[in-house]
Amino acid sequence: MVLVFAEQREGRLKKTAYEALLVGYRLAESRKTELSAALLGSGVAEMAAALTRFGVSNVYTVDDEALANYTPDGYAGPLAALVKQHDADTVILSATAMGKDLGATLAARLDTQLLQDCVEVVPGEDGTVEAVRPVYAGKALSRVKAPGANPLVITLRPRAVEMQGETGTEGNIVSADIKPDKLRAKVAEIVKSVTETVELTEADIIISGGRGMKGPENYAMLEELARQLNAAVGASRAAVDAGWRDHQFQVGQTGKVVAPTVYIACGISGAIQHLVGMVNSKCIVAVNKDPEANIFNVADYGIVGDLFKVVPLITGEFKKLKAAS
Ligand SMILES: Cc1cc2nc3c(=O)[nH]c(=O)nc-3n(C[C@H](O)[C@H](O)[C@H](O)COP(=O)(O)OP(=O)(O)OC[C@H]3O[C@@H](n4cnc5c(N)ncnc54)[C@H](O)[C@@H]3O)c2cc1C
Repeated sequence: MVLVFAEQREGRLKKTAYEALLVGYRLAESRKTELSAALLGSGVAEMAAALTRFGVSNVYTVDDEALANYTPDGYAGPLAALVKQHDADTVILSATAMGKDLGATLAARLDTQLLQDCVEVVPGEDGTVEAVRPVYAGKALSRVKAPGANPLVITLRPRAVEMQGETGTEGNIVSADIKPDKLRAKVAEIVKSVTETVELTEADIIISGGRGMKGPENYAMLEELARQLNAAVGASRAAVDAGWRDHQFQVGQTGKVVAPTVYIACGISGAIQHLVGMVNSKCIVAVNKDPEANIFNVADYGIVGDLFKVVPLITGEFKKLKAAS
């Protein structure tokens, strides 16, 4: 059985949960096995109902107040119990911050192997599962197997597949008789950033600013454009190290790996450590005053110019388009 961990935060299923379900669905179908989902949290009934329509036989829920906020301790126990109870041979999670953390904890608990941050998961010829992982900062793709791993734990990179609609089937909701372990650490408070922004890994459009932004106050310009496009605002490490943006917005090797439909890089030179985090974007637009900047080597559209002139012009055009429509 393929078991997909359906990630949710604050009562909302993540887009990546549906992506993991799609990969699980294809895998289960080709291996002629069952697909089920595991949903952990507090007050999950509505989310469970939504999941039943995505090709699953069952949605196993563990609904407990102690699971209202994610903790590795709290989540790994019930998930491991579900895996054992239902004899899952493959467990798929999203390679988000939560999924990577939980996947590693789960694999350790079950004393099994983990294939982290995969971009493709397919059935192997010998009945095993094969996965493809980017290596060497995304310069090469490695096809990996873990024969003998039972279960095999896999995390799937966000946006590795295009999310699809409901499958036209309806699975069951099964409330699992599992209690979370006593938590060793509890979330006392969640402090959110002041500005409500679209989350980087889920955004369809990302506008990132680098050292060329010159200072934190100038990000307001990118935020204004982002509002027109319903986009997220990212940053290079240079901007984060300078204290202009929080680390959660950093794109790259030591930040987030993103693959939006459109990535607009403003005042970013295109160092390899940045490229590795965004090079799989479908369309890359670069604004840089240096025509030799490396970012232009990966850009589909390049604008050589001063971002302080170019960005307001782009924003103005989108405002006009919006007003006209
Ligand atoms: C182990 C390791 C991990 C790293 N991880 C990451 C990572 O996760 N993410 C990341 O981004 N980096 C990472 N880095 C750092 C990386 O090597 C670069 O230093 C960094 O990406 C540079 O950021 P930048 O492009 O914003 O700055 P710069 O390289 O300084 O480029 C600034 C650009 O802005 C342009 N510019 C300046 N003014 C204007 C203007 N007015 N209009 C238009 N263009 C302008 C310049 O022409 C220049 O190209 C890592 C480095 C190491 C060693």
